[in-house]
Amino acid sequence: MTEVGLVETFATNQEQNLQGVMSPLNVTTASVIFICSPSFSGSTMLDLMLGHGPNTFSCGEVGFWYRPVESRHHQLLCSCGDSDCPVWESMLTVPAEKFHQQALAAGQYASVIDSTKRLAWIIDGNRWARRHDQSVANIAIWKSPQLYAYSWWKRGKTIEAALTRYVRYYRQLAECRLPIVSVCYDELVEQPAERLQEVCRSVGVPYFPGKEYFWHAETHLAYGNANTRQTLASTTPQIYRPAAYPADFVEQYESLQNRSWTEPLYEVVAWLRRADVWNLTAEAAQKQARPFKRPFWYYRQTWKRIWQSQLQRLCLRDKS
Ligand SMILES: [Zn+2]
Repeated sequence: MTEVGLVETFATNQEQNLQGVMSPLNVTTASVIFICSPSFSGSTMLDLMLGHGPNTFSCGEVGFWYRPVESRHHQLLCSCGDSDCPVWESMLTVPAEKFHQQALAAGQYASVIDSTKRLAWIIDGNRWARRHDQSVANIAIWKSPQLYAYSWWKRGKTIEAALTRYVRYYRQLAECRLPIVSVCYDELVEQPAERLQEVCRSVGVPYFPGKEYFWHAETHLAYGNANTRQTLASTTPQIYRPAAYPADFVEQYESLQNRSWTEPLYEVVAWLRRADVWNLTAEAAQKQARPFKRPFWYYRQTWKRIWQSQLQRLCLRDKS
């Protein structure tokens, strides 16, 4: 068996070991739920699944409205298609640190779900939630390394680049010491009802049969994955399940088995497995967590963002 194959097997064994360790049923509902992952890990889908229901709201990647990184972020692209969506008008009247509080109040929701994913935004969001005495949960969604590599490979990226990104994101997430629970994307799409039920139990959100069929909800999602947004408008919507990998991808993936990132991959998957929603509620993760910290890259990202926004403002002033 290849080293990379071992990672997948280890993950499965760990999952089997955790069977029977069910979370308690009475869990405090998390008011603010952050979904954490590198791009193309299923975060938009999980956001919409959790947001399907009368008391929850899917914000999507609202952090990009406050902290744009691409030109398209300067206009809030709501999934309802209305460029002047009234739902967002009522929520975006406050600065970033009060956004989640405002969104909860505007719709009288029990929970808002935010899948912005940028780590500096998640760190700040956790700080803001604590300041406003709101319960917060952080869910890491993760694909098996092979499926994640394939998601990038089919978009023309190299497998090495994909897995380097994978390891970096989850390592940085671990460095923040935020209370984390996790769910494996591969299992979520294989058994959506069962796994979503576990996610809901972990973060205290009520589950009802069919909650996983997110396209039945009226959504006002900001930005998010294009394919998942297309599912909302599809006449034959379904939960995407990966098909068999093409032979040339498998050959390339297996040829990388002895690279130096194999061990870090193993560590990352093991860390994610330990936080599985089978094993841990968001409330328990909160109690176990050490005081979270802002690593050096948080300050680097923050200063870069401030510098870029000042530069952009100066350019706009020169043009006018
Ligand atoms: Zn809308």
